[in-house]
Amino acid sequence: MPALQYKNKTKKQYMQLWREKNKEYVYQYGKQYRKVHYKEIRLNWRNWWLKNKKLWYQYSKKYSDSHREAMRLNQKNWRLRHLEKARLEKRIYMRDYNKREEVKEKQRLWKLENPNYSKEKQRLWRLKNPNYYNSKERRIKKKAENALYKERFRNGGKLTIQDIQKVYEDNIKKYGTLTCYLCYISIQFGEDSIDHKTPLSRGGTNVKENLDIAHFVCNCRKHNRTEEEYRILLKNQTT
Ligand SMILES: [Zn+2]
Repeated sequence: MPALQYKNKTKKQYMQLWREKNKEYVYQYGKQYRKVHYKEIRLNWRNWWLKNKKLWYQYSKKYSDSHREAMRLNQKNWRLRHLEKARLEKRIYMRDYNKREEVKEKQRLWKLENPNYSKEKQRLWRLKNPNYYNSKERRIKKKAENALYKERFRNGGKLTIQDIQKVYEDNIKKYGTLTCYLCYISIQFGEDSIDHKTPLSRGGTNVKENLDIAHFVCNCRKHNRTEEEYRILLKNQTT
C-alpha cells in the first residue's frame, strides 16, 4: 500500500507546508498548549535533563559562549522585571562569607581602576530618582539591612544589660564624666550611643572590651571603620 498522498505530497510534506502557511496559528496554539500542560512539559524536560546532563552542559556552554551579550541583556531585563526576587537571591548568595568577600574584592579593584564611574553613576541616579528617599523600595532595602545587622549582632554574642551598664560605668570612671571615646568631648543627655571599636561587620564581637560610648554623630561618622582606621582618618582630616 502506498503512503497516504495529499495532492501529490506525502503527509509529512503537506503538514510542513500547512504549518508554514499558518505560522501565527501554530504559535498561538503551541503557546496555549504549553500554558495548559506546563507541568508535564517540565517533568519531561527534567527527566531528559537528568539523563543527559553532560550533553546539556555542553550545549549550554556552547550557547552562552556565542550569545554572551544577549544573555547579559536578558539577565538585566529579568532583574528589572523581578527587582525584589533578584535582590533576595543576591542576598542569599552574598550570605556566604567567602562569596561576599570575593565579590567585594572584585568590586574594590574595579572601583580603583574606574574612580569616576561610581560617583558619576550615583549623581545621575539621584537626578533620575528624586523620590527614592520616601519610596517603598528604600524601605525594603533598609529592612534588609536591619535584618543583616540583627544577624550580625546575634553572631557577635550575647550582650546583657549588666554589660552595657558596666561599659557606661567604665567610661565615667576613665574620663570623670560620660565622654565620647572618639572625640574626647563630654556627652550631653540623649547624644550617647554604644560603639563597637571593631565593627560587627568586620569580625568584632559584643564583648565589653570591644564596646565604648561615643556621640551618636561620631558613631555614624566612624561607620564600619575600626577604631584605628577612624583615628587615622581624623588625623588626615585635621592636617
Ligand atoms: Zn564624639
